[in-house]
Amino acid sequence: MHKQGLTIAENLAKIQERLLKTCDRVGRDPNEVILMGVTKFVPKDRIKEAFGAGIRYFGESRVKEAAEKFSGFNEEFPEAFLHLIGSLQRNKVKQSLLLFDCIQSVDRIELIEELIKQCFRDGVSLRDKPIKVLLELHTGEETKCGFADFDALFRAAQMVLSNPCLKPAGLMTMAPFTTDTSVIRSSFRLLVKAQKELEKRFGPKENWAVLSMGMSSDFEIAIEEGSNLLRIGSLIFSNN
Ligand SMILES: *Cc1c(COP(=O)(O)O)cnc(C)c1O
Repeated sequence: MHKQGLTIAENLAKIQERLLKTCDRVGRDPNEVILMGVTKFVPKDRIKEAFGAGIRYFGESRVKEAAEKFSGFNEEFPEAFLHLIGSLQRNKVKQSLLLFDCIQSVDRIELIEELIKQCFRDGVSLRDKPIKVLLELHTGEETKCGFADFDALFRAAQMVLSNPCLKPAGLMTMAPFTTDTSVIRSSFRLLVKAQKELEKRFGPKENWAVLSMGMSSDFEIAIEEGSNLLRIGSLIFSNN
């Protein structure tokens, strides 16, 4: 017989319980950890259901899919925020500047150049306020997304800080897909270390405050290591 699936609210309640337990264990305030719903491949009615259940941050990995599902979303739900979490190609930069509140996957200098070029042209700004960006650091994940090392990260930070169209907000990473929790943990620790270095070199703290790390399979480790933005897809949206 077909098993009755769980609702998104039920999935969220389970995640919330684990989140609270983990925060309690490491002495963190659960209110400082945002639970983002990653909605790639998730249809719009399920996204609305998640909004109804309290999710306010949404992450999409592809611009085209995000545009299809989220056009008009901000009029419907002005309190919701949409982030790009997947690799951004140059030819989608303009569209992204109009669609997203934050680009988490800023992973190369050419992309920053293109963002700067597109957001302020012929004396006209494409947006009414700067777009938030997170710098993505490669910390061991197989596909090698993100800046390769701290030097590359510092150069990127300098560029982002030099342009008023961009608002640095923090860092993002993906841990390797492995069951070896020590490998995952060191990946997250590297991101925290990068954050401390950026604060020291460039200040102020608020520019680097967001630590976007932790997915369905590793979010508890991410909380333990200091994440304040969890990107969760399957645990929220799968109905089993
Ligand atoms: C898909 C995706 C997630 C969410 O993954 P789940 O394992 O479904 O929670 C998080 N971050 C990025 C960058 C993703 O592409």
